[in-house]
Amino acid sequence: MEYRVLGKTGIRVSRLCFGTLTVGPLQVNLPVEEGAAVIRYALEAGVNFLDTAESYRTYAHIRKALQGWDGEVIIATKSYAYSHRGMRESLEEALRALSRDHIDIFLLHEQESALTLRGHWEAFEFLLQAREKGLVRAVGISTHSVEGVRAAARVPEIDVIHPLVNVAGVGIQGGTREDMLAAIEEAAAFGKGLYAMKVLGGGHLIARAEEAFSFALQIPYLASVAVGMRSREEVDFNVRFFTGREVPAELRQILEKRERRLHIEEWCCGCGRCVEKCGAGALSLSGGRAVVDHSRCRLCGYCGAACPHFCIKVL
Ligand code: SF4
Ligand code: SF4
Repeated sequence: MEYRVLGKTGIRVSRLCFGTLTVGPLQVNLPVEEGAAVIRYALEAGVNFLDTAESYRTYAHIRKALQGWDGEVIIATKSYAYSHRGMRESLEEALRALSRDHIDIFLLHEQESALTLRGHWEAFEFLLQAREKGLVRAVGISTHSVEGVRAAARVPEIDVIHPLVNVAGVGIQGGTREDMLAAIEEAAAFGKGLYAMKVLGGGHLIARAEEAFSFALQIPYLASVAVGMRSREEVDFNVRFFTGREVPAELRQILEKRERRLHIEEWCCGCGRCVEKCGAGALSLSGGRAVVDHSRCRLCGYCGAACPHFCIKVL
């Protein structure tokens, strides 16, 4: 496994980052023991970087995975807190639930512009104080938007940016794939450490996984790429690909045959854009949000690209 330093933080992370959202209750909902075993398997394969968030509810999985593990591990987490008090509670909860004496990377979750950053500044100032005290090693933001990356690039106190980028531009807000790549380059020039999210477009690019991974890995400004994994086979596939090794045909077949289904997040606002896009008639609006008829869904992924809020995933 190759490791790179995140910007100016001195924090060395594996090129493959384990995105823990997938194993948690918001997505595949593996029991803690099972999710922890998949995370541990990845650690044993050389992954040293785990991405989580307060809202993912995967601290228990990570804590279990780290029991008895004496290798290096870097944990990045995130909080939606906007006040000093809210962020203090988020940090205390992360330290307690993860059983750590510090958090390596603490991010403001989903910052979309200079305006949202200003709205969370009190919480961010708390993180800066925590960094001074050694409770947090690096601070920053996660974002789906081009403007979020550009705004964070210009904030000197920000160490790390976690942007959404993928080969098809699925889920990028406020611009195209090329706009996001330009913003990432700009942020790197400002010395920010960057690691990408959603390189498989929330599951919509699984059929193009190798192309999608190659695209992300050739972006020179990214230290690491976060990928959600829910099985040992997925860890094997990803570790092999990220380390330039051949992926055996049997492994490909196992993953290709895996059952997948469309998942619509609870924050769907019911705008209906996905419904218009679905040629299979699998989507409709009910109770102010989109619902899917799984018997009609062909898992083509067109609806995911149409959703402005990145609500639709293939799990
Ligand atoms: S994945 Fe394709 S078929 Fe399924 S709901 Fe979305 S657009 Fe319709
Ligand atoms: S496009 Fe997204 S937000 Fe709009 S109805 Fe569909 S899933 Fe919900």
